[in-house]
Amino acid sequence: MFTSLRSRLLLTYVLVIGVVLCVAGTALIVYILQNPAIDRLLYVRLDQAAENVLQQEMPALSSQQTLHAIAQRIDQQYDVRVLVLSVDGEVLTDSRIESEPELAPKTRRITQGTHGLAWDANRRAWLFVWQPLDDDTFLVLAVPRVRKVSLLFSQRLREILRDDLFPPLLQAGCAALIIALILALWMSRWVAAPLQHMAAAARDVSAGEYGHISVEGPEEVQSLAHAFNEMTARVQASQQSQRDFVSNVSHELKTPLTSIQGFSQAMLDGTADTPEKLQQSAEVIFSEAGRMHRMVLDLLDLARLDAGTVELERVSVDLTALLHNVTTRLSPQAAQAQVDLQFESFALPIVIGDGDRLTQVFTNLVENALKYTPPGGQVRLRAVPAADCVEISVEDTGPGIPPEDLKRIFERFYQVDKSRPGGGRRGIGLGLPIAREIVHAHGGTITVHSQTGQGSVFVVKIPLARPDDSTLTTRRKD
Ligand code: ADP
Repeated sequence: MFTSLRSRLLLTYVLVIGVVLCVAGTALIVYILQNPAIDRLLYVRLDQAAENVLQQEMPALSSQQTLHAIAQRIDQQYDVRVLVLSVDGEVLTDSRIESEPELAPKTRRITQGTHGLAWDANRRAWLFVWQPLDDDTFLVLAVPRVRKVSLLFSQRLREILRDDLFPPLLQAGCAALIIALILALWMSRWVAAPLQHMAAAARDVSAGEYGHISVEGPEEVQSLAHAFNEMTARVQASQQSQRDFVSNVSHELKTPLTSIQGFSQAMLDGTADTPEKLQQSAEVIFSEAGRMHRMVLDLLDLARLDAGTVELERVSVDLTALLHNVTTRLSPQAAQAQVDLQFESFALPIVIGDGDRLTQVFTNLVENALKYTPPGGQVRLRAVPAADCVEISVEDTGPGIPPEDLKRIFERFYQVDKSRPGGGRRGIGLGLPIAREIVHAHGGTITVHSQTGQGSVFVVKIPLARPDDSTLTTRRKD
């Protein structure tokens, strides 16, 4: 019962319609009760009666003996209480003196206009009109004022409600109900249809089919559709990257394993029969095993960085000293490659981070630069302070990176050209992805600018230590 969106909407509408009709009906009854028109109608009746009496009864009223009898006759004829007052306010006659409590409108009130309100001895209100009969007397006609409370229970009000108010309210209610039914149908379609599409798309996703759902319906449903599309795109991308990763790993492992297998086979079956050949086979096996070892270590590192299980130190780091160390350590490598390695630094503010991990990043960047820069070239490591970070650039005069490779350079196992000369050690395409993970873990960014034939510049930005950096600690000197 009332579980579907449509029935709930309909129920809500019916409740709203009921409440609105009740409020409107109550407001109408209150309006009728409060309406001064009731008093005005009574005054009109009194005025008419007074006019008739004055036209027809004037001569008779002059006779004192018959005054009371005439008053009673007028009372019966017009259903009004008839009083004749002297100019001093003395009641000369009262048609209902026997049946009603005493009523004596004040002459002061009477002389101020033709209509008035007076209270009898029982504090009941009477509306009255008056007319002068001659110089000494007034004719006063009065009716009891209709009390609101009694009106509320009166037959007349019930008739008004039954005949005048209820039918239009009922009609309005029926019309509103039909409109509510149509609206509920339309609204539920408007809201539910995109949700049903989403449910179907979610089932497709669980079955491995990634579809894009159209963004429609109310704003909230649209934002849900946006989120859903984003989510499916991410799930798809992550599944794709997982597939790529597995195929890349197996591909990268296959090459050294094939070499190891081939050369060890040659050693076993005697194909490598001279001491030189044996030596060469052993060297290849050793080098390929080393490469596989490096790759496995890198993969483990990347997996841990990815999962966020690597605990990065957060201490104040002197980047000038750190970069100077990197340069010193790689100088022999630069000399061997006949590349001019220079380090330039300006007064740098302290940054917060993990010194060993940052060393790993810059070592990798400088090593790459040295690896790909031909003899006679230059590699420049430069660190400058910027507004809210320190900017470190590694610039080389190597072959550069083609534009189509630039956007993929940070992908796992991505290598621009595997046959490219890269020094003694063949790369595996994991250095830059690891560097990027480390820089991101520091809240920084890493970008690359390059043009084929004109060298490359890798730029790393490490944010400055904030005064409220609660994790700031100083490196222990041990
Ligand atoms: P690796 O160097 O082990 O292959 P990296 O992830 O460090 O892996 O680099 C990925 C690829 O990016 C390299 O194979 C190389 O083609 C390219 N690359 C990196 N640095 C440079 C550079 N300074 N100049 C030219 N190409 C570069």
